[in-house]
Amino acid sequence: MPPFIQFDKIFIQHILQTENITVDVVRFDEMHKIVSGNKWFKLQYYLKDAVNKGFDHIVTFGGAYSNHIVATAFVCRELNLKCTGIIRGEEAKHLSHTLADAKSFGMELFFMSRREYRNKHNIRQKFEGEKVYFIGEGGYGLLGAKGASEMMNWIDESYTHILAATGSGTMMAGLIKAAKPHQQIIGINVMKGNENLINAINLLLTEEEQKKKYTLLNNYHFGGYAKHPVELVQFMNHLWEYYQLPTDFVYNSKTLFATFDLIDKNYFPPGSKIMVIQCGGLQGNNSLPENILAF
Ligand SMILES: *Cc1c(COP(=O)(O)O)cnc(C)c1O
Repeated sequence: MPPFIQFDKIFIQHILQTENITVDVVRFDEMHKIVSGNKWFKLQYYLKDAVNKGFDHIVTFGGAYSNHIVATAFVCRELNLKCTGIIRGEEAKHLSHTLADAKSFGMELFFMSRREYRNKHNIRQKFEGEKVYFIGEGGYGLLGAKGASEMMNWIDESYTHILAATGSGTMMAGLIKAAKPHQQIIGINVMKGNENLINAINLLLTEEEQKKKYTLLNNYHFGGYAKHPVELVQFMNHLWEYYQLPTDFVYNSKTLFATFDLIDKNYFPPGSKIMVIQCGGLQGNNSLPENILAF
């Protein structure tokens, strides 16, 4: 295991106890500042596979605020691998914090128009003849899900409901793989209108795994990917003030909001023991204006 990942720092934070319900948060944000949350879990088997097969150049895909991009850049530097990021959208005048960091870790950035970016097959062809190992956008794929399934090692069987934000759906697929039959995995879709996500998740699951309990909720996106209306920012500050729980505006704040909203709506039966996954990505808050967050 690479020494830069600190698994011993992951802990369970108790948030709420009522007569009927317990809510805890597992703090995967603590394992590393940049390679936090699910990103190392998803990357590990791809990188092993790449190294085993003799590749020394990783190519992956993502947007300007992608935690996956910056995590891949950092890990590749640590493992002495060359790496290239194919970035969705034209190059902006100023690089986002995320991309500036990725570049400073040695990632080479290639910008593509949204239209070009959609055609991953064409992009892959541009590297024809070069010895490169491709990792899908957001680490999407079976090896990514296999790695993410190990996150369940921190969540014991007594938890009945496990909530986590979904982007590519890779982590959710992994959580489902490792879930016990009585555990329900609830994904909070942070994007608007990508009804295809549940299919992308199912593609990573066997028929048996598809019989397990899981749900994807599509109404907690707050306007869409990375959208953060004032109410959401206020909620993040509230989480900090009441629980000293840091969240990011893209993923974790929306998951926590959903958790409390579902409790209010009596979604969880009495006796439920809920685990919320704090999945890192706090670096994304660097792109918010200064002073709007209390942490
Ligand atoms: C990447 C990420 C997710 C989404 O993970 P997927 O496997 O792409 O669904 C959720 N939360 C945080 C903080 C992330 O960085």
